[in-house]
This record gives sequence, C-alpha cells and structure tokens, in this order.
Amino acid sequence: MPTAATALRIERRAPLREHNTFGLPALAQTMVRIGGDADVRRVVDHPDYGRAPKFILGGGSNVVLTKDIAALVMKIEVAGRRLVAETADAWVVEAGAGENWHDFVAWTLDRGWPGLENLALIPGTVGAAPVQNIGAYGVELAERFESLDGVDLVTGRGVTLDRAMCRFGYRDSVFKHGLAGKTVITRVRLRLPRPWRPVLGYLDLERKIAETGNRQPDARTVFDWVCSIRRSKLPDPARVGNAGSFFKNPVVSAEQCRDIIGRDPEIVHYPLPDGSVKLAAGWLIDACGWKGKSVGRAGVYEKQALVLVNRGGASGAEVVTLARAIQESVYGRFGIRLEPEPVIV
Ligand SMILES: Cc1cc2nc3c(=O)[nH]c(=O)nc-3n(C[C@H](O)[C@H](O)[C@H](O)COP(=O)(O)OP(=O)(O)OC[C@H]3O[C@@H](n4cnc5c(N)ncnc54)[C@H](O)[C@@H]3O)c2cc1C
Repeated sequence: MPTAATALRIERRAPLREHNTFGLPALAQTMVRIGGDADVRRVVDHPDYGRAPKFILGGGSNVVLTKDIAALVMKIEVAGRRLVAETADAWVVEAGAGENWHDFVAWTLDRGWPGLENLALIPGTVGAAPVQNIGAYGVELAERFESLDGVDLVTGRGVTLDRAMCRFGYRDSVFKHGLAGKTVITRVRLRLPRPWRPVLGYLDLERKIAETGNRQPDARTVFDWVCSIRRSKLPDPARVGNAGSFFKNPVVSAEQCRDIIGRDPEIVHYPLPDGSVKLAAGWLIDACGWKGKSVGRAGVYEKQALVLVNRGGASGAEVVTLARAIQESVYGRFGIRLEPEPVIV
C-alpha cells in the first residue's frame, strides 16, 4: 500500500508564473496536484498538510498573486467529461473540476448539446466556474447549473450541492462566503435545456445580427460570434497578462443613480428588476481618465478600461497599487467604491 505521502504529487518551491494569467511572479512553498477526490482525502489525512492552511488553484485566471504562498497550494487537475442524462427537456453534462472551461463548452457543442455558447472563451477551469458564478453575454452559470461534487477540507467527506445550496449571485456564491477555502469542488454538472433557445439580448450580439442579417443563428454561430467579440475586446492572456474584468460593476439605488446622472448624463447604466441600477465600472474608470495609463509595469488596457494588464514583468504589488489608485479616483469623483473581481492573494 502506498503511504499518503508517497501517493501525493508534491512539489516544493513551485513557480506559479505559468499558473496565473496575469503572469505574476510567486512561488508556492508547497504545491500538490489534485487528480481526484482521493487526493483531497490524502491531503486531509496527511500528518503535515491535514491541518495546514490551504489555497485552491484552478487556472489562475481570477487571482492576483502579490507574494509567495505559504499555504499549501492545491492545484486542481481533476479530468473527465460525460453525458449524465438525456431527457425530453434537457441534457445533463458533467466535467471534472480541472477541465478547461472553454474546451468543455466546445466539446458540448461538438456533441450537439447546446446551451453554453454564450460562455465561450472564458479562461479557467470548470471547477472555478461556480465559485464566482461566471457570466457573459446574457448568460450566467447559475442558469445552467445542476449540481456539483466536492470534498470537505476538514472532514474529508464528499458533499453534493444543488443550485439553492450554492447561493449564486452576481459573480458570487457560497464558495466566496461560508464555504470559502473549505470545500474543494471536484466535479460540476450542468443542465442544458431542450429545446435550445438562443440568448441574443446582449447589445454586441444584437449588433452581430444586424451586421450579418442572420436573425436565427444556431448555437455554433452564437459561439463563433461570442469568440470573435471577445477576441476583439479583451487581451489574450497568452500575450498580455491580465485577469479579465478587474472590478465588478457596482449596483446603486435608483436615487443614487439619478444623482449621478444629474452630474454625468452620459453614464452607462442598466436598470435591474428590483429597482436598483447597475453601473458600468469600465465607464466610471474611463471617465476618470485611466484608459491606457500605467503605474509602474501595470496598466489599464487601451481598449477596455475595466481590464488591468501586465505590461511586462509587473509584480502583484504594482497591480494592487494601480487598482487602489483607480478605486480612489472613482470614489473621489462618483462616491462609488469599486470592488475587485479577482482574489488578491
Ligand atoms: C481574459 C479574461 C476574461 C475573463 N472573462 C470573464 C467573463 O467573461 N466572465 C467571468 O465571469 N469571468 C471572466 N474571467 C475571470 C475568470 O476566467 C473566471 O473567474 C474563471 O472561472 C476562473 O477560473 P480559474 O480556474 O482560473 O480560477 P482561479 O483563478 O484559479 O481561482 C479563482 C477562485 O476560485 C477558487 N477555486 C478555483 N478552483 C476551485 C475548486 N475546484 N474548488 C474550490 N475553489 C476553487 C480559488 O481558490 C480562487 O478563490 C476572465 C478572465 C480573463 C483572464
């Protein structure tokens, strides 16, 4: 029988630059690769690591690493994809937490199971998708979510959570609150409704319809449109380090919004069903003159003020300094506190 220590794939002083899309330099004092539930249990039962602080790492596309990580880094590499069920009203598909999200979306389409096309090209892993309830182009993960499996990092017990238990919100879930750092997600199941109906309400997709004259695109066409829109707007992390949108779009009361519109009639805003109003964080940052600016080797992307980029060799501290300067100027001008979307480690 292998012992817990020999069975685990452990690396010391593991460089993390390749494991975060910002390309920030940091070392994991100890990193363990997690290939399945059994590996998580081996960590929990391990005499040295069982009680040690832990950090769960997927594709590193929503983290800002500001220093070396002393906590045990659990690099999630759980593989596998399958069709769980096919009924008259849905396909239920499952993927291991370490699968690449975009590859999984493409795989479902290739097999004729549409429904995830609006979420194409979001970097990262399947396991991290529920953590911040990823969303894009009018669809949020929560709308396609069936359930997930995970392992409790204290007891080593397997858990299954349904949609209600995940408490999804805007870029939010229980994994950012009560279960933050406490449960490793190992498998995710999604429900893709039949018959498929395209989601085309997003402005950029309406533009594609107008440009092409195609009013009834199939799922593959929507996938291609989303990929081309994203490629034209967002920097490719393989070439320019970034973590996507750096700040959440702030939600304010209708009264607050009226007040801001009184001073800035141009402000981009979206009324929400509950009467509150979502403001475009990118517009607020642009209005403060940040687009294209830099602080040290960290900068604001020229085409989209919501994206902070690594201009080459930036440290996590430089990114955080830039983010704070932006927060201060947006607060100074609009009285709104921008909240970062990525996890600052
Ligand atoms: C260019 C670019 C574009 C992006 N566009 C979008 C977008 O359109 N919409 C959107 O919502 N996001 C977007 N993002 C953000 C990012 O892609 C998502 O948040 C993604 O889900 C992060 O996945 P990851 O595997 O890289 O997670 P990581 O960055 O590795 O981790 C993020 C958080 O999840 C936790 N975590 C990771 N895996 C697990 C697990 N298996 N179990 C428990 N906790 C876990 C980590 O501890 C950490 O707190 C973008 C990022 C980039 C770089």
